[in-house]
Amino acid sequence: MTFAIQSHISLKPHNTFGMEVEAAHFCQLDDTAQLPALLASSAYQAGPVLWLGGGSNLLLTRDYPGLVIKVALGGIRLLEESADSVLVEAAAGENWHDFVRYSLQQGWYGLENLSLIPGTVGACPVQNIGAYGVEVKDRIAQVVCADLQANGKPLLLENADCHFAYRDSVFKQEAAGRLLVTAVRFRLSRQPQLKTGYGDIQQELEKRGIQQPTPLDVSDVVMAIRASKLPDPAVLGNAGSFFKNPVIEQSQADALLQRFPALPHYPAGPGRVKLAAGWLIEQAGLKGYRQGDAGVHARQALVLVNHGLASGSQMWALARHVQETVRQRYGVELEAEPLVW
Ligand SMILES: Cc1cc2nc3c(=O)[nH]c(=O)nc-3n(C[C@H](O)[C@H](O)[C@H](O)COP(=O)(O)OP(=O)(O)OC[C@H]3O[C@@H](n4cnc5c(N)ncnc54)[C@H](O)[C@@H]3O)c2cc1C
Repeated sequence: MTFAIQSHISLKPHNTFGMEVEAAHFCQLDDTAQLPALLASSAYQAGPVLWLGGGSNLLLTRDYPGLVIKVALGGIRLLEESADSVLVEAAAGENWHDFVRYSLQQGWYGLENLSLIPGTVGACPVQNIGAYGVEVKDRIAQVVCADLQANGKPLLLENADCHFAYRDSVFKQEAAGRLLVTAVRFRLSRQPQLKTGYGDIQQELEKRGIQQPTPLDVSDVVMAIRASKLPDPAVLGNAGSFFKNPVIEQSQADALLQRFPALPHYPAGPGRVKLAAGWLIEQAGLKGYRQGDAGVHARQALVLVNHGLASGSQMWALARHVQETVRQRYGVELEAEPLVW
């Protein structure tokens, strides 16, 4: 099957920070049957290669000297159904939020708390997206991949093979650049099992007078809360949370709690404690801080925003300033969540 490789393409429409950078070569993958020819092409062989979904977890600080491939594989298939659950497969290029809403409309439940996360289905296992007390790993049965070192040969990974962890998976680690996610298979329930105890969900449901919420109600409420708290990338360029919540040793957390008794902290496995990166940044006085057009969001300190004309390198300089300030004040390392090129 054929495909067109274009040269000198602006990536501005393809990243939610709105960075004006250029790809030396660009093409779109619409069908897995294109893979053998694509992998054999001189642009692919010359590298480097960046696989792209919606570009919502990406900071591009400079032009990309190689081939950017937009994954546009489409389709949703019901593979199995029983009285209790369904196994549904969505292709990697499907829009994540549209798929969440579609699944709820079919009566397939479990993804409602993950509503309105930007991006594609194919990227959801990469960083194991999570929100409002749910991680997508809890709903993924299998991930369908193409082995890029074996001519695009299909490979089925079971959930356990994906080594899911907090904002992490095999696709970000040992398989990065080797496995392309072509589709994801979700095990969804026919019986609602709502998780409303996280964030403001319960409060918002009560405000709306909803006593017995449906999964669609929870999705609506999550959408409203997110829209009120997070900047819309169409208005203010951003990639969502820019830093992961740091996980530290219990002894370090104890020492910090002596100095900062209000420090939010959560158990994260034996002897480990998770801190709220947003709190650390806000308490360090950086909420709303700006370096030119690169800023820390005024309402959510975990989100870095492009107020208009910030370049990727200015954005990255701001991120490093935030990391350094937090390191000096608390002795805690903040790790960037998006891919930084
Ligand atoms: C306003 C906003 C809010 C957000 N909120 C959340 C949130 O609540 N929770 C959360 O977890 N994330 C959140 N994010 C981050 C982002 O939406 C997710 O990480 C999303 O899954 C990224 O999808 P994408 O298609 O845009 O990926 P991209 O940004 O295009 O790619 C991200 C990474 O995945 C790789 N990749 C993409 N597609 C594939 C594929 N098919 N196969 C293999 N690798 C691939 C890319 O190479 C890159 O390394 C938010 C972002 C924004 C802008």
